[in-house]
Amino acid sequence: MSTRDRQALLPGATLGVMGGGQLGRMFVHAAQALGYSTAVLDADPHSPAGLVSHHHVQKAYLDAEGLQQLAAVAQAITTEFENVPAEALRTLAQSRPVAPSGDAVAICQDRAAEKAHITASGVPCAPFALIDSEASLARVSDTLLPGILKTARMGYDGKGQVRIQSRAELAEAWAGLGRVPCVLEQRLALHRELSVIVARGVDGQWVHFPVQQNLHREGILAVTEVPAPDVDPALAAQAVAHAGAIAQSMHYVGVLCVEFFVVKAADGRLSLVANEMAPRPHNSGHYTIDACDVSQFELQVRAMAQLPLVAPRLHSPTVMLNLLGDLWWRDGVERTPAWDAVLALPGAHLHLYGKTSARPGRKMGHLTLTGADAASVRAVALQAASLLGLPAW
Ligand code: ATP
Ligand code: MG
Repeated sequence: MSTRDRQALLPGATLGVMGGGQLGRMFVHAAQALGYSTAVLDADPHSPAGLVSHHHVQKAYLDAEGLQQLAAVAQAITTEFENVPAEALRTLAQSRPVAPSGDAVAICQDRAAEKAHITASGVPCAPFALIDSEASLARVSDTLLPGILKTARMGYDGKGQVRIQSRAELAEAWAGLGRVPCVLEQRLALHRELSVIVARGVDGQWVHFPVQQNLHREGILAVTEVPAPDVDPALAAQAVAHAGAIAQSMHYVGVLCVEFFVVKAADGRLSLVANEMAPRPHNSGHYTIDACDVSQFELQVRAMAQLPLVAPRLHSPTVMLNLLGDLWWRDGVERTPAWDAVLALPGAHLHLYGKTSARPGRKMGHLTLTGADAASVRAVALQAASLLGLPAW
């Protein structure tokens, strides 16, 4: 399709987003920088994205009036949260272009559907079993133990997950999760964790960011490093190809992140296993705002507006540190982290999401460090971590 054939929505139009969290806020910032107006649907009057948007529809995701209001004001709609009911996106799609589609989001919302899609795309997943009945519980193979029991739906940041050692613990954990449909995954010895973010247009063209190397602590992303310091080019190329295949086979439109585990065989050979995907920009791509010439949020805008998707270029090596609510607390007393000291570091880019209550584990912001070479960026990132009281890695 040539640029002239596209039904592009040009700057000046209004772009809508379902969900008002930090991903929505950074989407709004990117859309506004390009000259779009924005509309956010989120019931919370203080939602991070609602606070900075031209329009804020303060209604629940399935509220018919709210969806109508959003579709009335926005000429195209996206989502920033994968747990927005797929039904709400399908309703909006009756009157407006919606990207990604309700069908694509529905796949990502259900770990069983997600694994089926990943496998059908020719990409390996961790060995798993679906647990949705006493019979399926009894059938579980011992080879999946020790394992991780994950609710099929509504999990994020390690929530809805229980690590189990034995069949007795499995039964107990499933009861503890309310016997909702779950997947039991074999617990793999992770050599590394990576992610790949792609953006795909309606015309099937897709572009990608470099492979991200991620460190999780207690199931939550803590550090992202790009270029991935410990990943050889062949493995990185395979991760990108896998992510592209997963997006292509869904006819996906928008920004998609695929998380991978790198596992090491007894003979030392490394291979990739897809963990999960997110139908939206991803925490491991926040560095793209400061370290790339086009951010993941701008690509989300471009994809939904049917503007050209240009291949993004990493212009600086980078490290991103997640800033969780824990940083606001010391010895049971709330405090403001020493931002002045952090901002004295070269190449420090502070992003705070405007959340007022700093609960432990809550994503409050992130800090991106950029610099001329990877070694110096890493050194400054370690300094920043130490100033903030974060562990080194
Ligand atoms: P998010 O949506 O925030 O990425 P989530 O709650 O959907 O998180 P997962 O990505 O499934 O959770 O898991 C979180 C982390 O737990 C992974 O990044 C990894 O560190 C660890 N983990 C998950 N599954 C496995 C597994 N099968 N084997 C070993 N570690 C795992
Ligand atoms: Mg994950």
